[in-house]
Formats: sequence, C-alpha cells, structure tokens
Amino acid sequence: MNDLLQLEKSHLWHPFTPMQAWCDEAHEPLMLVSGKGCMLTDQHGREYLDGNSSIWTNIHGHSHPTIQAAIHAQLERVAHTSFLGFTHEPAIRLGKQLVDLLPDSALTRVFYSDNGSTAIESAMRMALQFWKQNGHPGRDTILAFERAYHGDTLGAASVGGIPIFKGSGNDFGYRVQRVPCLEALDHLTKEQTSRLAAVIVEPLVQGSAGMRMWPHGILAALSAWCRERDIFLILDEVMTGFGRTGTMFACQQEDVVPDFLCLAKGLTGGCLPLAATMTTERVFEGFLGTGRAFYYGHSYTANQLGCAAALGSLQVFREERVMEALPAKIQLMAGLLTSLRDLPAVIDIRQCGLIAGIEITPGSPNEQRGVKICLAARKHGLLTRPVEDTLVLMPPLSVTDSEMQRMVHALRLGIEEVC
Ligand SMILES: *Cc1c(COP(=O)(O)O)cnc(C)c1O
Repeated sequence: MNDLLQLEKSHLWHPFTPMQAWCDEAHEPLMLVSGKGCMLTDQHGREYLDGNSSIWTNIHGHSHPTIQAAIHAQLERVAHTSFLGFTHEPAIRLGKQLVDLLPDSALTRVFYSDNGSTAIESAMRMALQFWKQNGHPGRDTILAFERAYHGDTLGAASVGGIPIFKGSGNDFGYRVQRVPCLEALDHLTKEQTSRLAAVIVEPLVQGSAGMRMWPHGILAALSAWCRERDIFLILDEVMTGFGRTGTMFACQQEDVVPDFLCLAKGLTGGCLPLAATMTTERVFEGFLGTGRAFYYGHSYTANQLGCAAALGSLQVFREERVMEALPAKIQLMAGLLTSLRDLPAVIDIRQCGLIAGIEITPGSPNEQRGVKICLAARKHGLLTRPVEDTLVLMPPLSVTDSEMQRMVHALRLGIEEVC
C-alpha cells in the first residue's frame, strides 16, 4: 500500500490540486478501492458515504447490478468501435430512449461525445456553424452568465464566468457576451443582440458557483426572450440532468424546451464517461445539403460500453420507479438541512431537489473553512467537497433515509468541530 502511494506521489498529477501539499510526506491520499450503493471503501477498509455522488456523477449508487450486467453483456460483444462511418445498436437504442424522455418535445436529434465539456463544445459549435452557413454569419457571439460553469476545455471555459477555472485568467475561445442576470438582457444594444448566436445557462441552479439557485421563473423568461429574437437556447444540464432536481431534467420544471440540451455526468448512472447533446430537426436540417457536415468529433464518440451503461441506468429509472421515490427524499433532506440552521456558522441553506448548498461564514482569508469542514466530516464517514464556503450535499438518488440522516449528521459534526 505504501509503495503504491509512493508511486502515486512520484508520477501522478491531480486536477485542481495544489500538488505541493498533496505530495507532502505527512499527507496520506485517500485511495478508494470499492463501492456499493452510497458507500465507498478506502485502502484501510474504512467506509464512507458518497455525499457528492463522486463529483456529481453517480445516480443509482455504486456497483448497481443492472448497470453492471448491461456493461458486462456489452463487454462480451465489443468494448468500443468507431462512430465515424459506422453505427451500433446501443447508441441507436439509447438515442431513441433519450428522445422519449422528453416526449412531444422538439429535441429529436442526439449527438454523442465524451464528457460535459465536449457536450457543451458540440452545442456551441453547432449553433455557430448553423448561423454561419444559414445566412447569418454575423451571429458569432455566445451570451453567458456571470459565475456560470460549463467545463474546462478551451471553448467551454470561455463561456465560464468563474475566474479560478480560467487559471491564467486569460480570455480565450469564443466571442462571449457576459451578463450578470436576466434584467441585464434589456440593457444590451441592438448591435449586441443581433450578434448573438446562442444563450447558454445552467437551468435552475449554478453548480460550481456554489449551488446558487436562479429565482423561479427566470428560465421560462429567458426562453421566451430567446424565442422572440430567434436566438438559440443552450441548456447545460450536465449536473442537473437525470433526476437530480426532482424532475428528470431541470428544464421540465419551467416547461422549457431548449434548442440544445447538454447531458453528461449522470447519463451512464455515473459509471462511464459519455455525453449527449440533444437538438432539434431545425438545427439538424441546417446541416443538410451537399458537402455539409458538422465538423466535430472524438475518437470515443458513442463508446459502446458507455451507451450500454446509460441504457442500464435508464432501465433502473423505470424498474425501480426512481422518480416516484424522489419527493419524499427531497422533503426529508429539507427537514434535515433545516436542523443545521441552529449552527451559528451556517448563513444560508439552498436546496433544489437532491442538490444542497450549505453556506458558512467565510472565516479569515485563506482559512479554507469549507475544505477543513469536509476533512473533519470525513472522520465521521462522509465524503464531499465544498465550493469555497459552500458545503455541497448531493447524494445519489438511491440514498436511503438513514444514509441521508448520517450524511447531514456528519456534516454537522464537521461544522461544529471547525467553527
Ligand atoms: C461538470 C460540469 C461540466 C463539465 O463536465 P465535465 O464532464 O467535467 O467536462 C459542465 N457543466 C456543468 C454544469 C457541470 O457541472
């Protein structure tokens, strides 16, 4: 075990991680070796509740037998074949099932890629190329919101509005019009509005901004604004998709159908990397005609194992009536979170479905209270990560009542210990 951790520190490099502290002799990295349901087990056999669904991906718990079986069955046939010039059954079946999740909507085309960032890239590049080749080359700008997060690749990061995710702080990628809120749209000049190809937004809740909830009605109003001006609406449901907010997709809560719906994290139930960008026949038809194609793609587009896992996950949704069990769990979470309000350090509690942000008083600069609280909660059997001073609780949808109680209790102990 110690040999492994020595190799880890000698050769690996982790995302968004200050590696000097990570490699410090005194730091023993947590190595996760197995998972079952909401529980994860580390190198010493200690168990933890997966309080943030393994960075917002897991839906039905770890090692779910239905998803495992779907992956195994596909593995017996073939693990991966190219989607460039070929097709395969899992991708076709999954495409149809995704379309059927939004019945009678205009979203009838599915474009696969690998992760959330590429789902966003695909949508933005489709939007820009659509206008360019269909008589509106001047529509070259994407409107995005302050504090938005849409991923880390160059293009996805260019519409992001959180400075730390830009690292160097440089602006790069697409032409972006950034606005703080919906009201700001009224202050755009005619010239600015006429250049917009699309608006991109995280519906209902901005995740990486610290689980910041949009006021009710904003999404529907934004959709109407776009429609009046024939500007595409791109919804980033990479985090909110697949039941997380209480409905299958967040947009359904305000009866909004976007021009592009971006899905990733929970698509495979959180088992394998796969993403889908869903769009309309109108957009699709804008790419028809001799010599026209959407010039974008990745080697692992529509990976067969990933598609099989996603089909397995959707099967679990149906067979276990996952959506029907959610309202009671969401209510239980709300009640348990309320009990944290007596802690003086807790200044705000935000919840949307099974997504919760518990904001604490910032403490002194560089104190990193959020990080410290999560480390303290780890000793009480909870794994999660804060967004600055907001503690995140986002259990798998399969979470049981007692697991939820233990999660909130561990968080309470962590807060009490640090604050
Ligand atoms: C995680 C996330 C992304 C990026 O997804 P990756 O798979 O990490 O590239 C994009 N948008 C939102 C809202 C996310 O939460």
